[in-house]
Amino acid sequence: MVRGRSQSPILGIDLGTTNSCAAVVDARGTPRLVGESAEGRVIPSVVAFSGEDATVGAAAVRQAITNPTRTIFGAKRLMGRKVSAEDVSWFARAAPFRVVAAPNGDAWIRIGKEGRSPQEIAGYVLRRIRQSAERDLGLPVTRAVVTVPAYFDDAQRQATRDAGTIAGLDVVRILNEPTAAALAYGVHRAGPGRKIVAVFDVGGGTFDISIMAVENDLFEVLSTSGDSALGGDDWDRRVVDRLADEIFDAHRIDVTGVPVSLGRLREASERAKRDLSERQETAIQLPYLGQAEGGQPVNFERVLRRGELESLTADLTQRLAIPCRRALSDAGLSPAEVDQVLLVGGMTRMPAVQAMVEEIFGRKPKRSEHPDEVVARGAAAHAAILEGEQGEATLLDVTPHTISIRVGDGSLVPVISRNSMLPVRTRKLFATTMDDQRHVRIEVYQGEGRDAASSRKLGHVTLDQLPSGPAGSVRVELIMTIDVESILRVTAREPSTGREARVRISPSGGLTETEISRIIERRRDEASREPEGDP
Ligand code: AMP
Repeated sequence: MVRGRSQSPILGIDLGTTNSCAAVVDARGTPRLVGESAEGRVIPSVVAFSGEDATVGAAAVRQAITNPTRTIFGAKRLMGRKVSAEDVSWFARAAPFRVVAAPNGDAWIRIGKEGRSPQEIAGYVLRRIRQSAERDLGLPVTRAVVTVPAYFDDAQRQATRDAGTIAGLDVVRILNEPTAAALAYGVHRAGPGRKIVAVFDVGGGTFDISIMAVENDLFEVLSTSGDSALGGDDWDRRVVDRLADEIFDAHRIDVTGVPVSLGRLREASERAKRDLSERQETAIQLPYLGQAEGGQPVNFERVLRRGELESLTADLTQRLAIPCRRALSDAGLSPAEVDQVLLVGGMTRMPAVQAMVEEIFGRKPKRSEHPDEVVARGAAAHAAILEGEQGEATLLDVTPHTISIRVGDGSLVPVISRNSMLPVRTRKLFATTMDDQRHVRIEVYQGEGRDAASSRKLGHVTLDQLPSGPAGSVRVELIMTIDVESILRVTAREPSTGREARVRISPSGGLTETEISRIIERRRDEASREPEGDP
């Protein structure tokens, strides 16, 4: 069925760490990127504040170098995360802006005197995308499918929904990025039988690998792995460092200490890296990059060859192999059992990265003309499925983390194992451990650690008024379910009386309804001050 475009469509949004974009399925049934201009279709996920005003996207990037403490990037790394998490503190140490703890321990960002949640920052990006899509389509947009990495936990998924609410969007479905990519590549239409697909995704800041099984219209994520500290920016930094060393040797000046010079060097290095995906050599020209000691201007010029870029970054390319092996082993598969490898993310345009993929999996990967758009296109395809307009692909997901409960000595007993297919329901029977024990408190944890200290506590359920009796005589049944939206429900039941206690584990922390309303209110005030359109 083909849509007559008078009704507002569900937008498919790829909310990325580095860049974001959105797509809809057009009247011919083909997903296409939307946005007011070709330039504005993929926007950097960056928000900058100056005074009361916020700037989003490319304009925010342009002013970053002169306003580093108020230019916020990488909000996706902080959404739904505690400030104490290891990778959050790693990111916070390197970021030029301040990452602080909200009263509940969530990672927020300090801008001037104010703390802002990463959901609010992502909300700016989503709002910009929504408005840009509305202008392009000439229709209001109120609903969206937003993609997240397959390993995102409950809190991170909820934070993504909240960012949507802040942007005036009803997030009708959170979709796994590799599932979206597989949909966009049309893997499910490639003939009968179960196919094993690897989705290899390298963006600006992160690397994700997912192994999926696709059969007819069923998509099942078998395992995921990755390196959240490996992305295109690392390749750029290698070039920047090499060029800065050469400039120092030639002119005795350190351009990395001069923000404007460093910004230009970064931009030129990234551009050179992109160029070298197409050709064997490229010229880098940076006139007036700095001033030598005697006051004379430093003009930097040099040719960079593809081979040189590849040897400067060989170890980074090598690092891509480790998570792939881990994901294959988690899925219980050998590289030879993978039928297709799909490339996602701008960095997969680099020939050395493609060669690495071929080396790991022993086959040529499938490439798309626009690897940085496939996730948004897949999200749009899924939105069309939800609207009942295309096929009936069912998306089957797995839980990315093990769910365990804590027992007496502080160790954890797994109840639902990682990579279980959703929806999942398990049942376990326990017995009291003390005479006349009147209540049990069951604490639920998420993570692969063996003890409570190294895992994340999700919540607890307490069942009281247990019948009295000697230790071991009273039984408690524990039922856990995770639905297709990754919502976890825990029920504790005493079978002889039928007494039960339940808890729906909503992510610990996160924004409250009041906080979300307050942010929306603030955005309204800001919008009323803005000139027509977005900056
Ligand atoms: P994404 O997050 O998917 O938009 O990917 C962004 C990353 O892809 C950045 O590090 C870009 O420099 C990189 N990238 C984009 N185009 C190319 C290209 N032609 N060759 C190499 N890297 C690229």
